[in-house]
Amino acid sequence: MANWNQRTVGKRVSLTGVGLHSGKPASLTLAPAAPDSGITFVRMDLGVEVPARADLVVDTLLSTSLGVGAARVATVEHVLAALTGLGVDNCRVEVDGPEIPILDGSAAPFVYLVQEAGVESQRAGKRFLVVDQPVEIREGDKLARLEPAGEMSVKFTVDFKHPLITDQTFEFGFSARRFARELAPARTFCFLRDIEYMKSKGLAQGGSLDNAIVIDEFSILNPEGLRFPDEFARHKVLDAIGDLTLVGMPVIGALTARKSGHAMNQALVRKVLATPASHRVVRVSAESELEPLRIRLPALGLAESHA
Ligand SMILES: [Zn+2]
Repeated sequence: MANWNQRTVGKRVSLTGVGLHSGKPASLTLAPAAPDSGITFVRMDLGVEVPARADLVVDTLLSTSLGVGAARVATVEHVLAALTGLGVDNCRVEVDGPEIPILDGSAAPFVYLVQEAGVESQRAGKRFLVVDQPVEIREGDKLARLEPAGEMSVKFTVDFKHPLITDQTFEFGFSARRFARELAPARTFCFLRDIEYMKSKGLAQGGSLDNAIVIDEFSILNPEGLRFPDEFARHKVLDAIGDLTLVGMPVIGALTARKSGHAMNQALVRKVLATPASHRVVRVSAESELEPLRIRLPALGLAESHA
């Protein structure tokens, strides 16, 4: 039986890894949070709360970073994607420094962490941002477009001028089960020349074949190869779901992206939020309320993943 209530994690759970840029140990704890509070990062070392909201994005160059004053939290997109992918609305994400642990470069470790905590139903109906009119950002041949649909879906095309990553598309119709199986394990990727450049600038000190797919001019350097033939496009879908989470609630709409990245994804989110006619915020507490809204919530995976 489906449950349309908001959800949080069942208990406190932690993991430790390294920060991609610092190369230093970084730990993260997921903790339950009150209904309607959304997802909030907490810099425990500074005592500063950084809500996961689009207006607090301070950097989108290599990953999405949030900030309040001098308190930064970098590389938020994979843990945000995991929380959205498993239908978690409210969560405190406590960190002990400026970076979320990079782990294996995918969202799978965060999915395991949420599964370890369990997902708990709360006494408030779920809120959604329902897209009513198309909104898009175009830059040359790059596109990020959100349009009305009965569910959340993401279609992403990557096209790097590289023999291994040419015109690769992945389409995802939302389901918690599909998210955990088909998207969460897809790792981030980078080019060897970019890593060498970043390391020379003191960045990516923690970067290695353990936390990214690394590609040179012709081949994949990771001895284990790819987890999926289209792992690159899958990871871009994962990133887009994490970036869309900064709307502040799940989005009901179809995202089509071509050669987009964190910066364009965030530009799209800001444009949607700045265009009142493009969307409505609805609160749903029973299945009977769905029909007039023309929302196909079973597609959100709520019925299949309960606490
Ligand atoms: Zn990513």
